[in-house]
Amino acid sequence: MQLPDAPWLHDPAFERVVDALRVDGQPPRIVGGAVRDALLGIAVADVDIATPLVPDEVTRRLEAARIKAVPTGIDHGTVTAVADGRTFEITTLRRDVSTDGRRATVEFATDWKEDAARRDFTINALYADPESREIFDYFDGLADLAAHHIGFIGDAEARIAEDHLRILRLFRFHARFGKGAIDAEALAAASTHASKLMALSRERISDELRKLLSVANPAPAVQAMLDNGIFASFLPEIVADAGNKLAMLIERETASAIKPSAGRRLSAILPVDTAGVEKIASRMKLSNRLRTDLVQLAAHRGSIQSARQLAYAIGTENARDLVLLDFDDNRLRQELASIESWQVPQLPVKGGDLIAKGLRAGPVVAKTLQAIERQWVAEAFPEEPRATEIADQMVAEALREGGNP
Ligand code: ATP
Ligand code: MG
Repeated sequence: MQLPDAPWLHDPAFERVVDALRVDGQPPRIVGGAVRDALLGIAVADVDIATPLVPDEVTRRLEAARIKAVPTGIDHGTVTAVADGRTFEITTLRRDVSTDGRRATVEFATDWKEDAARRDFTINALYADPESREIFDYFDGLADLAAHHIGFIGDAEARIAEDHLRILRLFRFHARFGKGAIDAEALAAASTHASKLMALSRERISDELRKLLSVANPAPAVQAMLDNGIFASFLPEIVADAGNKLAMLIERETASAIKPSAGRRLSAILPVDTAGVEKIASRMKLSNRLRTDLVQLAAHRGSIQSARQLAYAIGTENARDLVLLDFDDNRLRQELASIESWQVPQLPVKGGDLIAKGLRAGPVVAKTLQAIERQWVAEAFPEEPRATEIADQMVAEALREGGNP
């Protein structure tokens, strides 16, 4: 078995890094996601490199070859090489000496199989020689990859006890690459240890959840997590039919050729409740941007406004997400098309215009401006002369109501 040839293997930046790390003529090896993805025929995103050289030696060699070396994870033995603007993570072979479910203490090693053994799934523990493209498979990763089976290396329960994040990784990798049922032993172990997820940092959990929700179709995996109590410790608020909610959203995304978005998908599985969403976002330490988006989506869910009205109120992207969450079939198509290349307009009337029309500066100006805006939005953003007509009408009303003492 060989890694299929691909242009990235001949990238001069990559070749320079490989050359700098040769030991007795032997190049370092490509490992993990890059090997797996290349074998599956999908685009390789990041290239991780494994080497028996210790990190100091890696740094020394890179610098001697005039390649920038950044000690990104020196405790774990990772040095990032930056060559011609491209980055490569270079990790020294290692073994875990002790683990507590949250972090591992590691020791450097020189044995490839030992390094493979501390990785999570067999499909993530494949190595490749970057020059001969020979594959090294110590735990039947190739067979699992062909079967689209996500299986732990060794005993699932023990591997999850070492690192609880692997529970979430199981569902993510199954959602991404798996076919058929989730490995029964792995699922049972995940379910047994689910409550331990609470001990992990919120950021790590949220990051995994974001990655899970970003895969093409996470719906069945999310439902399986729900059915096996995986969310109970960190997202008990998740709706009971999350799998269906996601499946429906994904169908609409696919039908309208709109890229997945973790935020939109998260919104689909959270209760429609702004206060509740605020609470979840702060507990899960979500970014401010994501929190604001989720709250705005929750605030406008189920509203009958048009996509343009929504876009005016909360921006085009949130409006598009809401349309996908709330509308189906014809309405979905129509509403999406209506904002597709639509520039959100600005109210063509300003406070100064109202003063020029006879209103006295003060609260009445802001109030009237709001009334004008409401009417203008309700009439679907008419241009002149209608905007001025609305303004004149509202100013007249304000004056009549004696709002201009
Ligand atoms: P992705 O495309 O999602 O980045 P990846 O396989 O590169 O997939 P990473 O999370 O980037 O996944 O990790 C790189 C490699 O490190 C994995 O392929 C796996 O071998 C190993 N690894 C990562 N996290 C763990 C973990 N929690 N336990 C054991 N091994 C892990
Ligand atoms: Mg990766």
